[in-house]
Amino acid sequence: MLCILLSLMVVVQKLKFLNKSNIKPLPRMPIHRGIAFFFLFCYTALIMIVMKFGGSSIANADRIRRMAEIVKKYVPRKPVLVLSAMGDTTDRLLEAADAAINTGACSIGEIQELHLKTIAALGLDIRAENEITPLLEELQHLLMGVSMIKDLSKKTKDYLVSFGERLSARIAGAYFRTAGVNAKAMDAWDAGFLSDDNYSSAWILKESWEMIPKKLNPLVDAGVLPVVTGFIAKTTHNAITTLGRGGSDLTATIIAAACGAEEAQVWKDVDGILTADPRIVPDAKPLEAVTYEEAAELAYYGAQVLHPRSMQPCVKTSTPVLVKNSYNARSPGTRIVASLEKPAPVRAITSRRNVTLVDIVSTRMVGQVGFLEQVFSMFAKHGVSIDMVATSEVSISVTVDAAYDLTGLHEDMLKIAQVHIKTGKAIVTIIGDVECSSEILSRMFSVCAAAGIQAQMLSQGASKVNISFIVNDAQSAEAVRRIHKEFFGKPASGKRNTA
Ligand code: ASP
Ligand code: MG
Repeated sequence: MLCILLSLMVVVQKLKFLNKSNIKPLPRMPIHRGIAFFFLFCYTALIMIVMKFGGSSIANADRIRRMAEIVKKYVPRKPVLVLSAMGDTTDRLLEAADAAINTGACSIGEIQELHLKTIAALGLDIRAENEITPLLEELQHLLMGVSMIKDLSKKTKDYLVSFGERLSARIAGAYFRTAGVNAKAMDAWDAGFLSDDNYSSAWILKESWEMIPKKLNPLVDAGVLPVVTGFIAKTTHNAITTLGRGGSDLTATIIAAACGAEEAQVWKDVDGILTADPRIVPDAKPLEAVTYEEAAELAYYGAQVLHPRSMQPCVKTSTPVLVKNSYNARSPGTRIVASLEKPAPVRAITSRRNVTLVDIVSTRMVGQVGFLEQVFSMFAKHGVSIDMVATSEVSISVTVDAAYDLTGLHEDMLKIAQVHIKTGKAIVTIIGDVECSSEILSRMFSVCAAAGIQAQMLSQGASKVNISFIVNDAQSAEAVRRIHKEFFGKPASGKRNTA
């Protein structure tokens, strides 16, 4: 009954969508064909969702129980589960490798203890332990190898951190089975995830788009709960890769888009996407909805809620993404969708620290063709990725992440221009409606001026949703707080921002 109701809702939603997009109404069809079409439609579009839980949502036995309670409520909507590593396991694995290289110690003690304790606390039987022990042994051997060769290539690092997700998926799978849910733990490659060999930030190959639904849809249709490892994949040569830190979000959105899921849910430890980082602005409010474009900008410019690339798959298929809080499941969370009826003048404010400003000045630029190309190809040659750009007739200012070593690039560039490198900067970004940019800029500048904060470079595209400017790193938190206060004011008690 519930299934039929939900199917009807999907059909109604799709019809609404057709109306909105001004597509011609479907021609009238005889009732029996209509019914057949309806069931065919329900079967193909049928309800399936992807639920992803991050590390802190499965940090220990209690959190795993809580996660399972949440998932069970969604069983009628046929979930595929995607899991990160438990708690900070990924960081612990990297620390263990550092220790193996620097001190020769090959200890997986803490990691082993967390996982074995969790198995015991969840009351899992010996079979769960039998799935886990060989992985722990393999990890121990790998660390011994790392300590011997005293080197950790990107390839080995990906192999090393993959253990976190492989352990958590198996434990959760076993727990679901004891709780009466027919769950199957799967390594991402067994669920169709093939990637290139760009270790530590791999891209999923085109073939995966066909393989993933082929592997997962039949399981879901058969009433199985697939529990898939987030974050990892394999190359065609069988080497393990990762999709970048926080990459389980991307695993989830790829599955949702590839399988035609109704939605991708990303369960975190915050109430959704907030108007600012709550560590900087304690009264930041959860947003009811944002667009894919806004979410991607937010992810990139410092709001650590979602993996920056995780929007891309769902943009292709218009699959909605819902960010929910596993510590507060009642809170409605934030919906990420293709477009919103009412754009808000300002949706959110973020900042990104540890930024370096590179100022390139040359009179040769005046009236010249191809100077920008020359400058940008130097950045490309030295593998330095540019974040923000602003240009005038005689100067180009760009920002890059402070982690880059700019020595070689600096030397090359001095051949064609004067270059000033200024470290200790931050990017403050206002995500909002560029149609209101004059108002946003004037209010933003007046609050910054009142606080003695200088905007040292400014960038705003013609159609983009963000306005970004550079300030001294030490002043960035103050800038975010003041701008937030200007646009969102004092918190109205308990009221959500419905922008
Ligand atoms: N466990 C990985 C990380 O901590 C991936 C993830 O959490 O999404 O980065
Ligand atoms: Mg994690």
